Amino acid sequence: MDYKDLREAMVRDQLLPRGIRDPKVLWAMEHIPRHLFVDPAVQSRAYDDSALPTADGQTISQPYMVAVMTELLDLRKNDKVLEIGTGSGYQAAILSILAAEVYTIERFADLAEKAAERFRTFGYPNIFVKAGDGSLGWPEEAPFDRIIITAGAPEIPASLIDQLTPQGVLVAPVGDRHSQQLIRLVKAAGELQRTYHTPCVFVPLVGTFGWQD
Ligand code: SAM
Repeated sequence: MDYKDLREAMVRDQLLPRGIRDPKVLWAMEHIPRHLFVDPAVQSRAYDDSALPTADGQTISQPYMVAVMTELLDLRKNDKVLEIGTGSGYQAAILSILAAEVYTIERFADLAEKAAERFRTFGYPNIFVKAGDGSLGWPEEAPFDRIIITAGAPEIPASLIDQLTPQGVLVAPVGDRHSQQLIRLVKAAGELQRTYHTPCVFVPLVGTFGWQD
């Protein structure tokens, strides 16, 4: 299978027609080998226009959703980024080539370990993974310039807003357990500015400041 051709087709047929325009995001999506982040059983569908299953009943997000969230983050090359919901590690890999450092937290230890192994094997030295409840953030490494939550949250955890730098940006799917909307929050001086974006469906953020299991 020619994965390079499939990646180019993914950008041409899924991302550009839906309005992804940031050249850095398009470049990252065209270069990161998504097929290396999915289970062998679904590798042939790695560039399909859909989410795919991972272990523990979780998912690797649809390529368009990865692209739109990354675009909303508006990453700069010196940014320190926190991701909640490592999953396969694919989104973290995209972030890692557009920012300085990525800290990513996964609730399931086996997923965190598998992602860490991928980062070691495929060469992503600026990604740091831990298993735990990401709704609490990563206080020892805070503050972060950018935070992305890749699981559906009932609301944006205050703990994560606390760990954002001034002018920092947070992107998250927020809603009920079955459907959400992407929210982009900017921690502006004296106020939190929210804008509302694409409707979406994510697996739930389960934790202290998320849903109860
Ligand atoms: N970003 C991932 C990728 O690129 O494959 C996809 C993430 S998947 C849609 C959501 C992930 O969030 C799942 O792996 C799930 O276990 C994880 N998750 C849910 N609640 C969490 C929490 N409180 N802390 C950390 N991870 C959590």
